[in-house]
Amino acid sequence: MRRILLAIGCVAATLLTPPSLVAQQPQAARPKVLAFFTPGSELDHFLFAQQAMRAFGAAADAGGYAFAATSDWDALNDLNLRDVGVVIWLNDMPHTAAQRLAFERYVGGGGGWLGFHVSGFGTNAWPWFTEFMGGGRFSANNWPSMPARVNADDPAHPILKGVPATFVAPISEWYSWTPSPRANPDVKVLLTLDSSNFPLGVKNTLNGGDIPVAWINTKYRMVYVNYGHGDRIYSAPPLPTMIDNILRWLLSR
Ligand code: ZN
Repeated sequence: MRRILLAIGCVAATLLTPPSLVAQQPQAARPKVLAFFTPGSELDHFLFAQQAMRAFGAAADAGGYAFAATSDWDALNDLNLRDVGVVIWLNDMPHTAAQRLAFERYVGGGGGWLGFHVSGFGTNAWPWFTEFMGGGRFSANNWPSMPARVNADDPAHPILKGVPATFVAPISEWYSWTPSPRANPDVKVLLTLDSSNFPLGVKNTLNGGDIPVAWINTKYRMVYVNYGHGDRIYSAPPLPTMIDNILRWLLSR
């Protein structure tokens, strides 16, 4: 009986409200998450991007956001970004000055960003982005992809909720950074490679030192995670759990 009354209430509301308003209300209530990807890039980078897009799309309803993805990096412009809450880069970065400047304005206006793996590589042609990343640039990698033990730097942080304090992450290509992002007092490191991994790799090796895997530059609404290579990242719970947490955290700020 109660269900019938509710249904009648909905019908009445629909009839009394102009159709355009009914259509707009759900969109307005949900922040937009817009992902950028690049087909035809390194296969392992595209495989991760595909899995991530499927996962974000599947989690959108429960996460209370509207998800869209595009391979058109020219969509990184003021008009498109004006109502976006979080921009995600799935293994690429903007390559034109117009795209980069639009992103800088978006971030300067408080826009959120989640970047994966090679998205954080950086380039001499864009010093603003190096500062945004916390000052470190790519310096070395392991090859081939390998699993690695990672440690949570601050298990109490909301982004690490449900993530073990230490665990073996699935195979990925891991990067080291110079200088280490941890050297920047504005950077909060979330995840770090454990010293037991080293030397990590065969053809290319990471030989030790402080190698953060995920961090926040607290001057911005941003999170960078270095994993994102290959089709195994979503094969075990901790890293996908962390991705969900990051999106929730960015959207809540
Ligand atoms: Zn890679």
